Amino acid sequence: MAVRPASAEHGLWFRRTDILDRDALISAHWSAVQPSRLCTVIANAAGDSVSTIEHLMAALAGCGIHNAMIEIDGPEVPILDGSAAPFVERFLARGLIEQSAPVRAIRVLRAVEVRDGDALARLEPSDMLEISFEIDFVAPAIGRQSRQLNMSNGAFVRELSDSRTFCLQADVDAMRANGLALGGTFDNAVVFQGDQVLSPGGLRHVDEPVRHKMLDAMGDLALAGGPILGLYTGIRAGHALTNRLLRALFARPDAYRMVDCGAMTVEKLPGVGVHRGDLPARR
Ligand SMILES: [Zn+2]
Repeated sequence: MAVRPASAEHGLWFRRTDILDRDALISAHWSAVQPSRLCTVIANAAGDSVSTIEHLMAALAGCGIHNAMIEIDGPEVPILDGSAAPFVERFLARGLIEQSAPVRAIRVLRAVEVRDGDALARLEPSDMLEISFEIDFVAPAIGRQSRQLNMSNGAFVRELSDSRTFCLQADVDAMRANGLALGGTFDNAVVFQGDQVLSPGGLRHVDEPVRHKMLDAMGDLALAGGPILGLYTGIRAGHALTNRLLRALFARPDAYRMVDCGAMTVEKLPGVGVHRGDLPARR
């Protein structure tokens, strides 16, 4: 996979380099998201897709990358260590190109909310992107966790980027029983059982699960078509609910406005001023 720079107004696109006989471009946009329970999948009109894009999308958003062509030779973004840190590391090592065109952002004007059972996702007005999340798991090693973070000043890279995806040993067993090979689960996810962390090395943060859910939300919101100026709240929310939230927002023209960011707003965008020192030291 290669992430290449693109001109302002280009937006974020994937190109399947293994597809040569038809349209291989897939827009990284909320309207291209396909129903999927466990990860975020986008597809084009020809039906070709890319799955598990959320951690890469979060890394792009967290580094303030709004225009890029992502070339990939298959239908799935590599999971790597289950976090966004390996992507962030590469972006910051190669360096970012500052573009002179003003950044177009999506300013939330009115609260929009969607629910699914006891899960909720909401966007409401704020001068910068803030993410608030709450999870509540029966497994005592996870339990109830909540956190709220203002995404300015490299906060995504510092606080969220290295938090890994997680699952329960029971999920791993169920997938094995269904014949799904899961070699190396410990390498790309934190596995919990009861009150224990089974993954060697333990957790990177005591509340790594809720931080990862915030990372996922950051990635799914990065499909909005521009940075969002608003407060996102997720309670037990997942990829599908956050996508429904974007659909609900863009279905209501009175709930948002596209704005050219002035100097003061640009300063508050995620990724502005971010540098390699923001990456958590040890993983
Ligand atoms: Zn995730």
